Amino acid sequence: MSKVPSDPKTSREPGFATLAVHAGQSPDPATGAIMTPVYLTSTYVQEWPDRHKGFDYSRTVHPTRQALERNLAALEGAAHGLCFSSGMAAASAVIETLSSGDAVLCGNDLYGGTYRAFTKVFARFGMKFSFVDMSDLAAVEAAFVPETKLVWVETPSNPLLKIADLRALAKLAHAKGAKLVVDNTFASPALQRPLSLGADAVVHSTTKYLGGHSDVIGGAVLTSDEQLFKDCKFVQNSLGAVPGPLDCFLVLRGTKTLPLRLERHCRNAAAVAKHLLAHPEVTKVHYPGLPTHPGHEIAKGQMSGFGGMISFELKGDLERAKRMISSCGVFSLAESLGGVESLIGHPASMTHGAIPREERLKAGLVDGLIRLSVGVEDEADLIADLDAAIVKSLKA
Ligand SMILES: *Cc1c(COP(=O)(O)O)cnc(C)c1O
Repeated sequence: MSKVPSDPKTSREPGFATLAVHAGQSPDPATGAIMTPVYLTSTYVQEWPDRHKGFDYSRTVHPTRQALERNLAALEGAAHGLCFSSGMAAASAVIETLSSGDAVLCGNDLYGGTYRAFTKVFARFGMKFSFVDMSDLAAVEAAFVPETKLVWVETPSNPLLKIADLRALAKLAHAKGAKLVVDNTFASPALQRPLSLGADAVVHSTTKYLGGHSDVIGGAVLTSDEQLFKDCKFVQNSLGAVPGPLDCFLVLRGTKTLPLRLERHCRNAAAVAKHLLAHPEVTKVHYPGLPTHPGHEIAKGQMSGFGGMISFELKGDLERAKRMISSCGVFSLAESLGGVESLIGHPASMTHGAIPREERLKAGLVDGLIRLSVGVEDEADLIADLDAAIVKSLKA
């Protein structure tokens, strides 16, 4: 079932959960194996020069990656999918389609690694990156220059969970002759499909919700823009930041349960956010599902759920915040997000340490901010764990 055909009698298109389990995959023709095989081979024997079964060399394509690329494309509603060895490699491939002198207009609270790659690596090759609050459309419009080729946005953003209006940004980018690229890692296609809102390409760290089990590093670019697809595919094969068969297998296993997991992530995160908001030791909670969140209405209009990520601030100083995040039992102190287990982190010293402090503060990322990736455990255990750690952190 490579494409998941629509039902000929009713012409129904398969739903998202059906696509998650089946899209891009069919039983192995050689053995009938229902799971996509992992062929640990770098090359494929040809019967005649350039006559083969569709696979010649594993940097160019291999069966597990092909299945994953088709699966992810179906989930994002894209014509094409390309997989990479990490989320950073996927983001880089899009930038590597640009040339010296081209400009990219970026959100001002991007993932720290993306900020680092843009400003410390690609800026050396003559590409220009500027940063603006993507929830302020007037500021975005004013920040375009004639060289702007791409608008690069994360929504919900990391770690402040700011919401950008994707329909409005797509319109604005297109009016200026630029393309809109959305890093959809935080929402996943189970909650938000940017291409259906007008975006030209979606980038993922499949390490996070798509893989979902904190056991693999990977990335993907999904697009229906033929030229962008061709250019990214050329970069993928030319520069070779590609995932191996086992990595693709793990992500493909993850996507089968994506809608199930996201349902639970959203439910748990909503309960934790509500609990923190009412907590006397908590001064601020950032979660787009809260009616008090400034982007709540826009989020409702472009997401089918508000996700598993929360950030918040405690009363007291930075040391107290550090004591709190080191005192949890169910939440593990670790980088990353999107796995079934709950994680807690300190963006200013961990994920966003690569961003200069003045830049961080300008974007509203204060030193005491704590970030949660709420997992799929029992809601009551998560809340009890946070409460106990908040009490413990009172004592120096
Ligand atoms: C983790 C992450 C990345 C980078 O992905 P890797 O797989 O770690 O290379 C990019 N964007 C966002 C939003 C992320 O969370």
